[in-house]
Amino acid sequence: MIIVMKMGATQTEVDEVLTRLTNGGWKTHVSRGEERTIIGVIGDERKLEPGTLTQMEGVDRVMPVLRPFKLASRDFQAEDSKITINGQVIGDNKVVVMAGPCAVESLEQVLETAMAVKAAGAHLFRGGAFKPRTSPYAFQGMGEEGLKILAEARRQTGLPIVTEVMSPEQVDLVAQYADVLQIGTRNMQNYALLNAVGQTRKPVLLKRGMMSTIEELLMSAEYIMSNGNHKVILCERGIRTFEKYTRNTLDINAVPVLKELTHLPVVVDPSHATGRWTLVKSTSKAAVAAGADGLIIEVHPNPAEAVSDGEQSLKPKRFAELMVEVRRVAEAVGRTI
Ligand code: PEP
Ligand code: MN
Repeated sequence: MIIVMKMGATQTEVDEVLTRLTNGGWKTHVSRGEERTIIGVIGDERKLEPGTLTQMEGVDRVMPVLRPFKLASRDFQAEDSKITINGQVIGDNKVVVMAGPCAVESLEQVLETAMAVKAAGAHLFRGGAFKPRTSPYAFQGMGEEGLKILAEARRQTGLPIVTEVMSPEQVDLVAQYADVLQIGTRNMQNYALLNAVGQTRKPVLLKRGMMSTIEELLMSAEYIMSNGNHKVILCERGIRTFEKYTRNTLDINAVPVLKELTHLPVVVDPSHATGRWTLVKSTSKAAVAAGADGLIIEVHPNPAEAVSDGEQSLKPKRFAELMVEVRRVAEAVGRTI
């Protein structure tokens, strides 16, 4: 952190800042220019609140040098993190595809979808047993019965399960059945939940808050990692913008930006990003071309009858077509699928 003193700041004001820093355990380096004094702070600046320094007499500006996230940062770990989920590795050369319905509705619906997405080449199966719905009157999910159905789908297909956990109290239960714990967009800043999944050693799919910045997403990853669980997969799932034609706006920039800032794997959810099944194939291809490590896609045997997100769900046949085209893009950018 660099502290720039005001022009004409007195020696007493400089000394007060130095005393404050030294008492807090930081070392300092003072550089006296002709017009201004600049103080370099040596030590973990993340523990220093810049706002408290700007309150001090004679201080003009405070400029952080380090990024606020640490464990998630590429500065901390240069090489990509590879996360293994029941033999499937995410963050490596292979693009990992997670597919399945928005919500678990019945054993038949889940098995039919799981068999179909597996045949089309999906690597993991997704489905929500606990659903965070905007309306309290909408279907809230099958709960533990839904988790049992997901476990049965894994038994029959071998596909690992990704499913959402909505509260700290649910973590133990969901972790008994799930291979990957999903944190939904609405819970990205539920710090009690982030701490709770951080206490497990299950991979976590952390979805970006619909109104969150990339830095806030990485700070949420930092919560999980600082609890000892480094198996975090980031998910760009669209953000709110002024554009109303699509449900959200896919922030494709987030993929290469995250690849620069962090070593964690990055997955894109084109279903929630667009909200319309007709746009899922093209945005999936864009995501892979931009460097995503994986995709999470909603597939339903009969989207017209789906209890949630039917509008954005692909029929199995369309998902199979998507896989063919995504494979071509993956190969064009030197990846496998
Ligand atoms: C989901 O994956 O079905 C879901 C609810 O996602 P999001 O949290 O991104 O809206
Ligand atoms: Mn959904």
